[in-house]
Amino acid sequence: MSTENNSNHIFENSIKILTDLIAFKTISGEDNNALINYCDDILKKIGATSFKTFDDEKKRVNLFGTLKSKKKSTKKPIIFSGHTDVVPVSKNWTTDPFVATIKKDKIYGRGTCDMKGFIACTLAYAPIFSNTNMDRDIHFSYTFDEETACQGAPILINELQKRNINSGICIVGEPTNMKIVDAHKGCYEYTTYFEGLAGHGSKPDKGVNAVEFASRYINKLMELRETLKLNAPEDCIFDPPYTTLQIGGIKGGIARNVIADKCRVDWELRPVIKKDGDFVNKEMDEFANRKLLPEMKKVFPESVIKKEIIGEIIGFDRDVNSEACEFISNLTGDNSKEVVSFGTEAGLFQEIGISTVVCGPGSIEQAHKVDEFISLEQIKKCLSLLEGIKNNSSIN
Ligand SMILES: [Zn+2]
Repeated sequence: MSTENNSNHIFENSIKILTDLIAFKTISGEDNNALINYCDDILKKIGATSFKTFDDEKKRVNLFGTLKSKKKSTKKPIIFSGHTDVVPVSKNWTTDPFVATIKKDKIYGRGTCDMKGFIACTLAYAPIFSNTNMDRDIHFSYTFDEETACQGAPILINELQKRNINSGICIVGEPTNMKIVDAHKGCYEYTTYFEGLAGHGSKPDKGVNAVEFASRYINKLMELRETLKLNAPEDCIFDPPYTTLQIGGIKGGIARNVIADKCRVDWELRPVIKKDGDFVNKEMDEFANRKLLPEMKKVFPESVIKKEIIGEIIGFDRDVNSEACEFISNLTGDNSKEVVSFGTEAGLFQEIGISTVVCGPGSIEQAHKVDEFISLEQIKKCLSLLEGIKNNSSIN
């Protein structure tokens, strides 16, 4: 086959695979076994080995596939990292969100840009890697439930550490229009539950008002928010340049004249440094357990304050000597580096010593939206990056 025919074939194949991937309704929290098996089959057919890691019920699964190098070298392995879950859909779509639909130069469907497009590209390119005399290992990392605060990836990362896979270059293919992104804040999400004692509104001292205790908890959070601003690290690259904190919701009480026995507070924290996250958690836990709870228990010993961790996506820190960024820059000729406001799995790979970059096809502008799409141009750009990686990783 001529080179042009060959690249046409890979492109067509990537669209076919993307179409198949879109049809799996892998909304976060749902069973993603079918999609993972589909990916695993493609990888196995070309000679890759793989292992899976699961949630407790084996309902949701991560896949890690490996194409071994054909020759020993000092080159670090490449990890292609993508999440298989997508965010829910609303009724306002003009196309079926789970049927990939090509209109003009775009392909529509839930997950096209975030981030099944990237997964499709890596799977379409996998046979080429397999047929090439590669001098480094190529890994394919496909996780579950990234969109709900990275629930799947930590389970996989754990297993990687057990298997001593802790060096390499990881490309997280979240939609960046193929630009290099080398940092983002962390994103920690919590719900704190308060349970007191109901009673008649005319006798507030006889009950334990969960709403009132929750509001004191919120006030403390607001106080810490100001402290975080004052403690902002110098030369912080983020916008805004300090750790933010906000209350996303509060629910409690049933009537004006009834002491509220239950209340919940949803809140989030976006640390610019890990230390800030630890600080807020320590302060809040102390305030809840040493100040508020003893007061509640004085009236009603069964009172409860419980903080549930919804998820803690750790930040992705800028590394000025990033091997991963340099690797991509050398292949694309683009030396620019950007910071984004969304969270990814990048910090998790970085934390175990793997040099990581976020770079993938499509735009975050279309992610999580009605009529999500990826342009065919972006798919082609991603495939040409993969070709560059192949050329950089083959024995002449
Ligand atoms: Zn994503």
